[in-house]
Amino acid sequence: MKDLNSILENQRAKFREVFKYSANELQKRIDGMKPSDVEGDVFTQFPSGSSGKMWQADVLNMLENEISKDIYLKFNEILAERKNYHCSGCATCCNLACSEFSPDELAERAKNGDKFAGQFLSVFVPYESKEEARKVYPEYIELLEQNKENEVYFYHCPKLTKDKKCSDYENRPQICRDFPDNPLALLPVTCGFCDWKNKSEEMTLLLHAMIEIVEYYKEKIPV
Ligand code: SF4
Ligand code: SF4
Repeated sequence: MKDLNSILENQRAKFREVFKYSANELQKRIDGMKPSDVEGDVFTQFPSGSSGKMWQADVLNMLENEISKDIYLKFNEILAERKNYHCSGCATCCNLACSEFSPDELAERAKNGDKFAGQFLSVFVPYESKEEARKVYPEYIELLEQNKENEVYFYHCPKLTKDKKCSDYENRPQICRDFPDNPLALLPVTCGFCDWKNKSEEMTLLLHAMIEIVEYYKEKIPV
């Protein structure tokens, strides 16, 4: 338990650190683009045709066409790197999947076109009780209980055999093939993708921080 908690705490601390650093660096870059005759910051309402307005257009262009593209490319690199790692067959992710949505809510979402919800329901069925789920990975359930404010629902896959094999491996859906699709996922220590996670986590945190920062600027800069 202590381990999972400290992993999560470390991740949060690293995120705060990279967020602060990235926000400062981006602000310096934006300030460096500022024409010398402009007074005010990049969020000021400047008259149209003014140097200030052109500066804002340049900044938005840089956010859209340089930084957002770089973020996208970097994410793709991280996902491509995942191919060098392999599932070790521990079956934890087949035996314990969680969702913030109940089965009824997932069904409703699937009906409204949410593909992930549809796939999730095609694979997983709910545990009868949280206590059943707890037996699979007690530390993880405890961690969620301590850190999640909202209800979490626990599921398992009935296609998993008693000897922890997928009984329909060749036809397993994309959702299974893609797991884990994000190095920030909390993985069991038995997972064959832990090394990928460890290697990519810092860059992924940076990319997530950059996405939030870029969105903030794009929303606040007057168009
Ligand atoms: S379909 Fe197979 S791989 Fe997917 S969750 Fe079920 S047992 Fe695991
Ligand atoms: S937790 Fe990782 S190693 Fe275990 S079954 Fe899932 S993908 Fe494979």
